[in-house]
Formats: sequence, structure tokens, C-alpha cells
Amino acid sequence: MAALAPGATIGIIGGGQLGRMLALAAARLGFKTHVYAPAGDNPAFDVATAHTEAAYEDERALAAFADAVGMVTYEFENIPAHPLAWLAQHTPLKPSADVLAFTQDRWAEKSFLSDLGLPVAAFANVETPADLAAAVERVGLPLVLKTRRFGYDGKGQVMVRRAEDMAAAWEQLGRVPCIAEGFVDFACEAAMIAARNATGEIVTYDMPRTVHEDHVLRRCHVPAGLPAGVEAAGTRMARQIAEAFDYEGVLAVEFFVLRDDDGERLLINEIAPRVHNSGHWTEAACAVSQFEMHIRAIAGWPLPEPARHSDCVMENLLGAEADDWQKPAAEDGAVLHLYGKREARPGRKMGHLTRLKRR
Ligand code: AMP
Repeated sequence: MAALAPGATIGIIGGGQLGRMLALAAARLGFKTHVYAPAGDNPAFDVATAHTEAAYEDERALAAFADAVGMVTYEFENIPAHPLAWLAQHTPLKPSADVLAFTQDRWAEKSFLSDLGLPVAAFANVETPADLAAAVERVGLPLVLKTRRFGYDGKGQVMVRRAEDMAAAWEQLGRVPCIAEGFVDFACEAAMIAARNATGEIVTYDMPRTVHEDHVLRRCHVPAGLPAGVEAAGTRMARQIAEAFDYEGVLAVEFFVLRDDDGERLLINEIAPRVHNSGHWTEAACAVSQFEMHIRAIAGWPLPEPARHSDCVMENLLGAEADDWQKPAAEDGAVLHLYGKREARPGRKMGHLTRLKRR
């Protein structure tokens, strides 16, 4: 596909804050956007050129959407396979449906990474009662049992400390296909945002150290304060994954950082084929944000160096914390981003604040 020229319409599947920030970045490069999302609170609708509120299975709405756009991307991974395959046949879809299929299934994703020789925690497939004991044997205890599909932010996962608790944990998750993962006693967590375009150009951002609370990202610290060799290893792994997939767009890689007497090393926790919360700091601390980089990458534009100009700490504003917007709005050196969601349910991502420190 030739580079998409300004004036074209980029379709975005998913109407949340990531779609909203993608639409804003696309507009800055002269693109129009059309957001497609099922009924609900869809803050991306407020900033897009057009939107369609319809179910993913609504074939007529999907066909009209495909006709209205020059290409499609997504901010959300849990899109049912059938409509996605249909869309991919009718309009360029980036990142590709193949990539999405891997990342929608934790087992396929971990197998892919491990086949590439990349470091991941021990893991085992759990699909039948007979797999439960074998998984404990293979992975060891404690372990985390996770549903293979449709999990996010800690949803669909249970910690298992004793072999005799495996069956109950699987029951609790609904006896659906699961993956058992060794529990990782990490020193901290980190992430890497990378982008690749169709000509094979790759750029990576500096590594943030990520802090989760109740499985939800709370803060990112940049720089991460990790040895340069660790950051370089994370960059190499992100590049290797992007190349292995012939990837187009922004890719996020989440890491566990292990520390022992020999120093730190990384294990990959998971990957996301989209812009990611651990890259929100880039809009305030870099010349080119992850959102603009994603639009450039899928549109086949050149990828400039992100050019980070500041150290920073990004903090998510969860639930009612965003009601207190006057305080951060008055803070010097802090970049406030509010998502315009209608309802501040507890723990819901309502906005983020990036505190900049000049380097
Ligand atoms: P996930 O949805 O798999 O990214 O998990 C969300 C968070 O749960 C991670 O960022 C970790 O803080 C924690 N977590 C997930 N898997 C493991 C594991 N195998 N060992 C230790 N902590 C984990």
C-alpha cells in the first residue's frame, strides 16, 4: 500500500481513551477519522470526524464503515474474529489480523515468544481436567491461572498456591481454556513502546518503569532507573518481535524485571498490538507521541526519532480522582489529559497527568 495521504479517513475500532488519543493525533496530521464501537460510553466519538455506534456482528454497519475509510486500525484487542476477518478482506487492517489473533490468546502469544527464543515465565496450557496436575508439574508453585482469551487488567486470573487448589481456580474461571504461568517474584515492572512501518523502519521509546496497583497501571517513571544493558535488551526484544510479525503500527511489550546477585534481567509478561497506557507519557515528554507514531506507522509515513526532551512521571487518574481536576490543572510542569468519560466508576481510567522534569 502506498503511503496514506492527508485528507484520507482512518477507521478506528474501539471508542475508548486510546481511540480518542489516536483520533486527536490523526487530526494533527491532516487525517479524518471514523470510530466504530458498540453502544456505551465512547469518548473517542467526541473528537472523531464520524462515528458508528453498532455491534461488531452488525454486518451492514461494518460494510458501510469499510466503505467510508481508507484503512482500519484498532485500539482494542477483544474484537470477535469473524468481523475482523471480514474487515481485513475489505480494507487494509493494521496491525494485521494475524498479529491480533496471536495476542488475543495468551497461549498462542507465549508460545510465539518462546519459539522466538525470548524469555518468558514457565507456562502450560490448561484445557481439560487432566491438564491441571500436568500444569502444576511443569510450571511449579505458586502459579497464576489466566483465561487464554478476553483477560485484561488482572481480570480473568487467579493465583494458585497449592496443587489441590487448581481445580477450584479453574472452576472459578469458568472451565474455559486457560494458561498456567509461573508466579514471577519481580523486583519491578517495565515496558517498551516500539513502532514499525511497512518499509521496515523501527523506532523505540525509552523504557518506562511501570507500577501496577490491583493489576491496573498506576504510574510510569521515565527514565526507568535500570542499567543501560537492561534497557538495551528490552529494545532488542521489541525490535525482534516487530520484525518477526512484519509489524505495522505501535507495539507495546510489558516486562517483569528480575533481580539477583548477577544483576537484573527481563522476562516478557505480555505484548499488546496497539498504543498502550505505559506509553501515555510520550505525548508530554517526547516530540513525537506514541499516538502520532502509530498513525505514521500504519499510514506508511516515515518514523522520526521520538526525541524525548524531559524526564517524567505519568500518573493515571482513576475513578473519582479525576473529579479533583482543579489541583492538577493548576500545577506547573504537569500536563493534564482528561478523557471526557461520562461516568467515573471506581478504578476506571478517567485521565492521566504527566509531571515533567527538565533534563
Ligand atoms: P496481565 O493482565 O497479565 O498483564 O497482569 C497484570 C499484572 O498482574 C501484571 O502487570 C503483574 O503486576 C501481575 N501479574 C500478572 N502475571 C503475573 C505473574 N505470572 N507473576 C507475578 N505477577 C503477575
